[in-house]
Amino acid sequence: TALVGATPPADNHTAFLRAQDAIPGGVNSPVRAYGSVGGDPRFLTSARGPYVTDVAGREYVDLVGSWGPALLGHAHPEVVAAVQEAAARGLSFGAPTVGEVELAEEVRRRVPAAEHVRLVSTGTEATMTAVRLARGVTGRPLVVKFAGCYHGHVDGLLAEAGSGVATLSMPGSAGVTEASAAETLVLPYNDLAAVEAAFAEHGDRIAAVITEAAPANMGVVPPSDGFNAGLRRLTSQHGALLILDEVLTGFRVSEAGYWGLENTGRAADARWTPDLFTFGKVIGGGMPVAALGGAASVMDHLAPSGPVYQAGTLSGNPVAVAAGLATLRLADEMVYDHVAAVATTVSDALGSALETAGVPHRVQRVGSLFSVFFGEAAARDGVRSYADAQAQDVYRHKPFFHAMLDAGVNLPPSLFEAWFCSAAHDEDAVGRILEALPAAARAAAEA
Ligand code: PMP
Repeated sequence: TALVGATPPADNHTAFLRAQDAIPGGVNSPVRAYGSVGGDPRFLTSARGPYVTDVAGREYVDLVGSWGPALLGHAHPEVVAAVQEAAARGLSFGAPTVGEVELAEEVRRRVPAAEHVRLVSTGTEATMTAVRLARGVTGRPLVVKFAGCYHGHVDGLLAEAGSGVATLSMPGSAGVTEASAAETLVLPYNDLAAVEAAFAEHGDRIAAVITEAAPANMGVVPPSDGFNAGLRRLTSQHGALLILDEVLTGFRVSEAGYWGLENTGRAADARWTPDLFTFGKVIGGGMPVAALGGAASVMDHLAPSGPVYQAGTLSGNPVAVAAGLATLRLADEMVYDHVAAVATTVSDALGSALETAGVPHRVQRVGSLFSVFFGEAAARDGVRSYADAQAQDVYRHKPFFHAMLDAGVNLPPSLFEAWFCSAAHDEDAVGRILEALPAAARAAAEA
C-alpha cells in the first residue's frame, strides 16, 4: 500500500475537508488556519528557495518562511545534505553527541553571554524551562510578561498573548487554572513606569520578567529607546531575572539576534545583558531545535548539575542539530545583509503601494522583520503596544491578503505576525512581490 500522504489529493479543498475530519480545525497549529482572512489554508507539498508549492501544483513566493526558521530559504542544498548524512547515521540515540556541543558552542560564539546552553525541541519548551529555572533560582513565584508578546503555549504565558491568540481575538486560553494565571502579571508593552509600579508592589515575589527581544507577534513593535535596558536595571535592582525571548529574532535579525543589534555583539562591551536567552526557529534551520542559554551560574541550576528538573527524549536530536548547525554556519554577514536588503525593498514597496492607494497605514520594522498596521491612528502615532495593535483597521487585511495570494504571494494570514524574508529571495522572487502589491493595496482601499 502507498504511504499515507505520498499522493496528496490534487484539490486543496478536498485536502482541507479531509483534514478537518481528522485534525481539530484541520491544522496542527492555529496560525496555519485562515481564521481571520477566510478560505482554505493552502496545503503545501514542497518548498525550495523563496517558493512554496501547493497540492494543486501552484507556486507562491513565500513570506512565511515556516514562521521564521527559513532564513536561508527553503531546502538549502547544504542543509538538506547535512540532514541526509545525519539521518543515515541514525535518527536518535538518547545519548550525548558531539554535534550538540558544536551547536552550543556556535550559539555562545554569537551570543557570548549564553555561557551554557541547553537544547530543547520547541520555543515553548525553552520559555517554559526558562521560567521554571528563574523560579528555582530565586525561590519566587511571579512572572511579568507583556501584553501582545507571545512566548509559546505555556499555561502561565498565554494571557493576552500575541500570534494566533491575537489573531483569534482570544484573551488567553481555556484550561489555564486561576492559580496559574494569578502567578503571571501582564503589563502594557513599552511602559517602564508600569514595570516600576509592579516591582514597587510585588518586588520581592517577582522571579522574572520575560519579554520578546523585539516583539513580532502583535505585528512588529520595536522596543522604545532604553526599554530593554530599563528592564535590565529594574530586574537587577529587585533581584529578579530578565529572560530575553529571542525565539523569533535570534540569529535572524543579526548574527547575535536582536540583542546583538542593540549591543555590540560582544558580551564584554554590551550595554545590557539578560540573565537568560531563549532561542528557536533559525537555530534548527527548519527542524525541531530550540534552546535556552545564559550565565553558567544560572544555567547550572538545571539538572543534572542542579535542582531544577528539565529533560527531553528528543532534545538535541542529531538530525535536527545537523540542520541547525549547517544553517548557522551558512548564515554569514552576506546572508544577513541580503535579508535586510530584501526587507528594505519589500517594506518600502509595501508602504508606497498603500500610500498610492490612499490606505492609512504604518509599516514598522526591526532589523529584517517588518509588518503593516492599517488605520489612521497607526499612521499618525505608530504602534507601541498591544492596545495600539488591536485598535487598527483589521478588516482591510482580508482583501489585501487574498489579492496577494491570488497573485502568487504567500503572506502570513494575520496582521499580528511579521513578514519573513530570506537569503533566497532573489530579484525574480522580489519582483513578483512588487508586482502584486499595487492591486492588493487597491483591494485594501476598497474594503
Ligand atoms: N517565543 C516567541 C517569541 C515566538 O515567536 C514563538 C513562536 N512563534 C515561541 C516563543 C514558541 O515557539 P514554538 O512555536 O517553537 O513553541
